[in-house]
Amino acid sequence: MKSFLLASGNLHKAEEFKELFEGTLVVSPAPKTLEVDETGKTFIENALIKARAYYETYKSPALADDSGLVVEALPNILGVESARFAPDLPTYDQKCLKLIELLNNAQLKNRNAYFICVLCFYITPDEIYFFEGRVHGEIGQDLKGNKGFGYDPIFIPERRENDGKSLAELPEWKNVFSHRAKAAQAALDFFKETIDKTQIRP
Ligand code: IMP
Repeated sequence: MKSFLLASGNLHKAEEFKELFEGTLVVSPAPKTLEVDETGKTFIENALIKARAYYETYKSPALADDSGLVVEALPNILGVESARFAPDLPTYDQKCLKLIELLNNAQLKNRNAYFICVLCFYITPDEIYFFEGRVHGEIGQDLKGNKGFGYDPIFIPERRENDGKSLAELPEWKNVFSHRAKAAQAALDFFKETIDKTQIRP
C-alpha cells in the first residue's frame, strides 16, 4: 500500500483522511508538525508550499490539504485566509457566530457559500499531483451539530434530502460528499488508473 506523510497537524483532517483512504493509501502523521508560512494566494499554491516543506524535511512522499470556506457575499474574507479569519476569537464557535453576525448586520440576503479542498500529493519534485473538490451550500442562521470541525456547524449543504442539517450533523454524508471526500475520490480514481506508471514507492 502507498504511504504519504500528512503535511498538517490538524487531527480532524487526519481522521477524515483515515476514513477516506481506508484500504487504499496510508496517510500517517509526520513525526513533528512543521510551522509552514502559507504565503500563497491560491489553494493550489498553499497546498504545494505545505507538501513541499514536509517532503524536503522528511524526504518522504507527502500529502497536503489546503481548504477553506468561500462565502459569495464576502469575497474579501475567508477563502485562502479561512484559517486566519477573526484571529482575536479563540474558538471556531466564536468565529462561526462572527461570520453570521457579519452577514446579518450587512443584511446580506445572499448566503451562498462553498467549501473547497485542494490536495497536493508530492511524490518527488518531478512528480506532483493536485486534486480539487467542492461542496456547495449556504451559511445558516445559527450553529448546529457537534460532529464536525471548523465552520461545519454553520454550513448547510444544498442537498434537499438533508433537511437543512449542517455539515456538523451529517458526518456520514460529509464522508462521501464533502469537498475533501470529492478531492480524495478524484485522487483515488487517478491513482487506480495510473498506479503502475507512477513512482510511488511502498
Ligand atoms: P488550512 O488548514 O490552512 O487548509 O485551513 C483550512 C480552514 O478552513 C480552517 O479554518 C478550517 O477550519 C476550515 N475548513 C477546512 N475544511 C473544513 C471542513 O471540512 N469543515 C469545516 N471547516 C473546514
